[in-house]
Amino acid sequence: MTLTEKDKLYNWHPYTQHKTAPDFPAIIKGEGALLWDENGKEYIDAIASWWVNPFGHSNKVIADAIYKQLTTLEHVLFGGFTHDKAVLLAEKLMTILPNNQKKLFYSDNGSTAVEVALKCALQYNYNKGIKKTKIIAFEDAFHGDTFGAMASSGITFFTEAFKGSLLEVVRIPVPTNGNEEKSLQALQNLVATNEFAAFIFEPLCQGAAGMVMYSAEILDKMILMCKHNNVFTIADEVMTGFGKTGRTFASDYLDNKPDMMCLSKALTGGTIPMAITTFTQEIFNGFYGDDTNKAFFHGHTFTANPTGCAAAIASINLLQTAETQKNITRINQSHLDFEQKIKLHPKVKTTRVLGVIFALEIKTETQESYYGTMRNKLYNFFIENGIILRPVGNIVYILPPYVITDTQLEKVYYTIEKAIEMI
Ligand SMILES: *Cc1c(COP(=O)(O)O)cnc(C)c1O
Repeated sequence: MTLTEKDKLYNWHPYTQHKTAPDFPAIIKGEGALLWDENGKEYIDAIASWWVNPFGHSNKVIADAIYKQLTTLEHVLFGGFTHDKAVLLAEKLMTILPNNQKKLFYSDNGSTAVEVALKCALQYNYNKGIKKTKIIAFEDAFHGDTFGAMASSGITFFTEAFKGSLLEVVRIPVPTNGNEEKSLQALQNLVATNEFAAFIFEPLCQGAAGMVMYSAEILDKMILMCKHNNVFTIADEVMTGFGKTGRTFASDYLDNKPDMMCLSKALTGGTIPMAITTFTQEIFNGFYGDDTNKAFFHGHTFTANPTGCAAAIASINLLQTAETQKNITRINQSHLDFEQKIKLHPKVKTTRVLGVIFALEIKTETQESYYGTMRNKLYNFFIENGIILRPVGNIVYILPPYVITDTQLEKVYYTIEKAIEMI
């Protein structure tokens, strides 16, 4: 039996209807932007394996840091103890985070980073005896699949089955080009009610919605509006963090910094599952005092796992090299050149670029659903051609590892052009 066949006997895959799903290739090796399956077929990983992997698969520098850590101290509980790597990583993050971020809380994945932020926003108010129990989020947002994260997410078929069991979240329109005023007005109406603890958003680019983008200028206004009305702002940078938008964080484009930030995905260079929620001193102070009950009673067994922290330190060091920064600029320029060429194509509706993120929408007669026919046709075409891209409905996006070569990138563009012709 092949790995693919054995996999089908036991494994339940994410976001998958197993009855209709095609066979999943079994990947056995990765290097740089490339992956190989059990039959020796080569793939270009043009979405950095769900946006986690900026420095390439099987990166030697991160692997060495992990090995060294595993043979020094693999794990120690973070309740009642600390360790050198958590301290080093914290010091390092403090040099790259917006300077209003003063405290870090560790967890294991993007969804839990969001849970932590939401729980802190709610408990901060509870600790002070203020009744603010609702959350504001964008339409079509994606913040993860645990309950709080899911409640804040607006892609309905992800969350429909759980509607009755979710935290109260009110959604506002995304301030894309032309929708700024509508969005701002909706936010103004909500913050004025004094019922909302926080506004959570994916800054500048909504990943799972299909790389939907909006300006830093409008987000700045929205954050300021929240500040004036004592509503916390949570920047979910799980996707945008660590260079994807062309700056270290999307929040670096803002004048008004968020109160909290959620980090995961590229944090460890796509190696060890880890997440961090970051906070202002003010939020931390809302839990600080003589009353034990006011502490934040939340934790995960692998909180601040030393191996994860070592991987994150190595990863941030890599991000800061001149070579990586040059690669980010190179990919951005390459996307802009491709955009100039492809946007005139009669079948292309719109295109957008931010940092290493490129997206295009294919013209359609009808509204294409997230996992609809067009999406599946495109997806299968890319896989057949050895390119890993996961279109969202009629939206094709690229979010490559920063180490992708020009030749590999050209092949991705070329295959997208062919796909547009084919569809
Ligand atoms: C992927 C993602 C999450 C969820 O992260 P997981 O590690 O999959 O739980 C949350 N927010 C955003 C913006 C994401 O892209």
